[in-house]
Amino acid sequence: MARLFSKDYHELSNSWYFNHAVIPLDKDDLWYWLAADEAGRYQMRFFPSQDKTEYFSEWVEVLYDPIEEKILRHRCAECKHDDSCRHYLSLLRYAYLNLSTDVFIEEALQTCDGDALRGNPRWLDLAHDARLSVEGIYDPNTDKIRFYHTAFQDLDVPALIHLIKGQKIEDEGLRANYLVLDDYELQLFSFLSEHRAAYSAKGSFWSIYKKDFPAALALMEHLDGRIEIRETGELLTFASTKYPLALRIERAGKEAYALSAVLVDELSTWYAGYPSWLFFRNKVHKVYLPFKDDVVNRLFSQDMLLSARTWCIIAASCTRSSCARISIWILTAGSSFL
Ligand SMILES: [Zn+2]
Repeated sequence: MARLFSKDYHELSNSWYFNHAVIPLDKDDLWYWLAADEAGRYQMRFFPSQDKTEYFSEWVEVLYDPIEEKILRHRCAECKHDDSCRHYLSLLRYAYLNLSTDVFIEEALQTCDGDALRGNPRWLDLAHDARLSVEGIYDPNTDKIRFYHTAFQDLDVPALIHLIKGQKIEDEGLRANYLVLDDYELQLFSFLSEHRAAYSAKGSFWSIYKKDFPAALALMEHLDGRIEIRETGELLTFASTKYPLALRIERAGKEAYALSAVLVDELSTWYAGYPSWLFFRNKVHKVYLPFKDDVVNRLFSQDMLLSARTWCIIAASCTRSSCARISIWILTAGSSFL
């Protein structure tokens, strides 16, 4: 019997930083979950006990090689792979003082890499936790929107795109595990790659022009609650109910009529397309308006003037029963027209 992680502990525990970084932990302050992979290595995930959740990261995971008696990899929910992660250092100290290699004699769960699962547990967790982060949606001063995939960590995105296209890649790990990403994510990744204005591997982002954003939104809708707004940290949510949009037509001068949208809430921004997408802060509604994009833009800019003839055409197209997808009503003000 030996103290757990003693080699790693001795390597790191003499530094000034270590002693200042460690979080004081007593026996039973950390719980763990243990699994063995096919190569005989142990994956351990440590969680704080209920009293310590405030002081410790949600989890820290290590991959341990019992032959070399060394930790091969560690990852923290907060600090990711950062070597100076104080949770990892605290875990080393905790394990050294409170646990022994006997934990491996207790029967470890065998993980079924390759067979039953879509990917190994690390990848499954990664896919479950990771979110794309989107920047620029509400910024009128840019014509592009950035999609950051930083949360997917060391995912080799260019290689992933090759895989999606059915091309061969060298990275065995990626090939064996990429199907932990669901079809909607893969479609969106593929779309972003195809329509990118730029891609930065270093910055981990794609940028696309705003003109392509409505089509991206149609894919993003399926990732409801899994995409973050970079500027605010809020999650983008897509409404499942139709937005009660009403259009108002009013006289504007002698000959013209103004067409405007009547909205219950304050519109943060919109993206014209078919459907068009209305943003109320982080909540997104789609509406099917039978107008060209520039008309939709003028409509929501309160800048849409019509002749009497156009008004009639719009009224007819919006009320025609075959346009069942249009959830709008025509209101009129200035009843002399009717
Ligand atoms: Zn950490």
